[in-house]
Amino acid sequence: MDEFGMGSANVHSHFGPVLNPAGPVGIDQSLAVSAEEQRVAGGSSGGSAAAVAAGLCDVALASDTGGSTRLPASYCGILGFKPSYGLLSRHGLVAYASSLDTVGIMAREVEPLRRAFVSASAYDSKDPTSAPTFARTRADEVHLALRERLAGREGAGVRERPLQGVRIGVPADIFPTSLLSSSSVLDPIRTFLRTLVSLGASLSSVRLPSAPLGLSAYYVLASAEASSNLARYDGVQFGHRAEEKVGEKEQLYARTRTEGFGKEVRKRLLLGTFALSADAFDNYYLQAQRVRRLIQLELDDLFRSPSPLATPAPPAAQRHDGVDFILHPSAMSTAPLLASCSPAASGSTSTSPASPADTEPASRSAYVQDLLSLPASLAGLPALSIPAGRSTDDGWPVGVTLVGQWGADSEVLEVAQRVEAARAVEQQ
Ligand code: GLN
Repeated sequence: MDEFGMGSANVHSHFGPVLNPAGPVGIDQSLAVSAEEQRVAGGSSGGSAAAVAAGLCDVALASDTGGSTRLPASYCGILGFKPSYGLLSRHGLVAYASSLDTVGIMAREVEPLRRAFVSASAYDSKDPTSAPTFARTRADEVHLALRERLAGREGAGVRERPLQGVRIGVPADIFPTSLLSSSSVLDPIRTFLRTLVSLGASLSSVRLPSAPLGLSAYYVLASAEASSNLARYDGVQFGHRAEEKVGEKEQLYARTRTEGFGKEVRKRLLLGTFALSADAFDNYYLQAQRVRRLIQLELDDLFRSPSPLATPAPPAAQRHDGVDFILHPSAMSTAPLLASCSPAASGSTSTSPASPADTEPASRSAYVQDLLSLPASLAGLPALSIPAGRSTDDGWPVGVTLVGQWGADSEVLEVAQRVEAARAVEQQ
């Protein structure tokens, strides 16, 4: 994985990058890929994704602060699930940005993923942000109508059209064709959309005007939280300690942290510490919190079910014009070439992640890849990256992400399972 979960390409690791085993021609033939054609597994949980994609295990745990489960899953052609914030205990997970950190799950098929999720989803007093039992019960009540729709109370034809009555919104703001690397990424996604429609789902265009701002907001908030979370690695209580030189006091901390953290982590810690400083706080941290709130409200407004976390609790009644899920591409491209993502190429020593002054293309694209996964992270919503097929251009996997209202995790997985079943029949 990328050090402390900071990265999107898995090149910020002391142990070297994780290579993508998917290959342009299928996993069993991935050895045919030459060194120049090697692609990254994606980050930060690229090791988990590569292990699942290569068949070393059926299910792997991952972490997801801003897309680290979904992006590698998309690049490696497997499922990557970020559950609603608070449903899976974070006890034992090394903190990156606590208000965003979640435990993710990866698998090649929906059923093992669902079983792993169900067995791990419970209140845990050891995680102070674990969703309490009453929030889980409230989510069950709020999503009852959706569950009934999925259970096919609507009668005849349910077998042939298992998504009848389900509404899916496609947000134009984070589906701009100009942002995607090439139309080849869109082709498998269009096929996926056609399958959804053939199963009875209705698609509509929705707006998320603040979503593009999520990228800058996320990098300010995540870096700020990381700077306070990682303050404990001072070599006194925790972590690596540099050798002490005679007469040296203050420099020991600096040398300890310079030696112990990689370049990308140091860059984020400096950025985060700056964002929290008295002079910068109002312009960076506070603004980023406002953007986060806007994105949360815009997303919440789109859904047919109200948020189970809203206080005071709104009536569980469904909104007539709302959608049940949101769907968008998981990434703007297929897995990038390893050569274009090496720390040298990604300009680790350059300016801040989201700085407009950062003109080096490889450097910026490493962060821009997160754009699509960030709204669900900032709003704490469940999001599943599903393999949509292979790019018609380069043959590498393309993923599509389904996002639900908070607590609609089982329903997101249910939709994926039905699509998976339909596609298995199509391929027979
Ligand atoms: N790529 C994002 C980052 O570097 C997300 C990482 C994550 O989800 N852990 O912060």
